[in-house]
Amino acid sequence: MTRTLGSALLASLVVWQFPAAGSASSGRGAGGQQLVERQAYLMGTSVRLVAYDARREAGLNRLEGALRALEDTEQELSTWRADSDISVLNRTPVGTPWRASARLCRMFTDVLEWQQASGGAFDPAVGVLVGVWNIHEGGRIPSPSEVAFALGHAGSRWLDFDPLACTLTRRTEVTIDVGAFGKGEALDRAAVVLGDGAWMIDLGGQVSVNGRLPDGQSWTVEIADPVDRQRAVATLQLQSGSLSTSGGSERDMRVEGRRVGHILDPRTGLPASFNGSVSVWHQSGLVADMLSTALYVMGPDQGVRWATAQGVEAAFLIPDNGGVRIVGTPAFTRRLQPARAATAGAATFRESNEPE
Ligand code: AMP
Ligand code: MG
Repeated sequence: MTRTLGSALLASLVVWQFPAAGSASSGRGAGGQQLVERQAYLMGTSVRLVAYDARREAGLNRLEGALRALEDTEQELSTWRADSDISVLNRTPVGTPWRASARLCRMFTDVLEWQQASGGAFDPAVGVLVGVWNIHEGGRIPSPSEVAFALGHAGSRWLDFDPLACTLTRRTEVTIDVGAFGKGEALDRAAVVLGDGAWMIDLGGQVSVNGRLPDGQSWTVEIADPVDRQRAVATLQLQSGSLSTSGGSERDMRVEGRRVGHILDPRTGLPASFNGSVSVWHQSGLVADMLSTALYVMGPDQGVRWATAQGVEAAFLIPDNGGVRIVGTPAFTRRLQPARAATAGAATFRESNEPE
């Protein structure tokens, strides 16, 4: 099925809006519910937390607790911190088991399960590859022998995970990079703290929500244009779960005249060739985060087939003749609406990857 939308350009960043957006950080909404809001900077990005609560103080306390959960997750996962759990794992001598906390044990169970299910398109053990491409610090073009070396030191096949003992053992000098799943894990932990009720967290473009606004409406999340971030292409009504988007030219780098995408194919050692964006909605923020990365690597053709078979809700935004073509799983594209501001040009929604 094809629907034509009035829209232009491409989307990748996620922004959100709700009726009181742009108003003061706390105000009384319908039904005596107070809107409370907190903003901070962590995990190398900005975070915005919003909740409704019958009492302002209680609402602010909940946001504070959620913020602490995000900070604690960063403390455990960040490879920028030498004392984080993941940094310790990355330094543990080859062959020596590293014991994970119960929380990290659960996280690695999910992470390694999806690494397998994605056929290695998503792989947490890409640290050495990310390093030779210098993804986190501006990018560089490695020599073929550097890529070959990194490929020999990347991939979960070099990790022995014992879920009963909760240990991970590196069998060679592989390292974990949390870039593709750390934010999702943090969002899930913050969600547990916030619990029931209406709340939203936007962590650098990945949005988790819960509940309805006091007026009964859902949260409206916009999928925005990666080239022109101010332009929304589609909107989505959400009452639960998390929307993660991978891709978007703003994170790609240019080195020696060549585009170096920040998402690598762990099987080839090269940057994924797709140059649009892919958004995934999943009940779990961790899974949404991992799978937007996995699908970006797969690209639209394989990605839509794989997501449909897995029951995963996903849509690719593909640059097309100055516009954008949206190709996704039927369950997901049915939920997308054209963004109100999207008027120029023409974008096409397709529910599968079959030719038009
Ligand atoms: P995201 O923006 O969530 O798609 O994550 C991209 C980040 O994850 C990159 O900046 C790298 O740190 C890391 N990464 C890149 N490619 C992969 C991959 N195929 N699997 C897992 N992590 C990756
Ligand atoms: Mg991701």
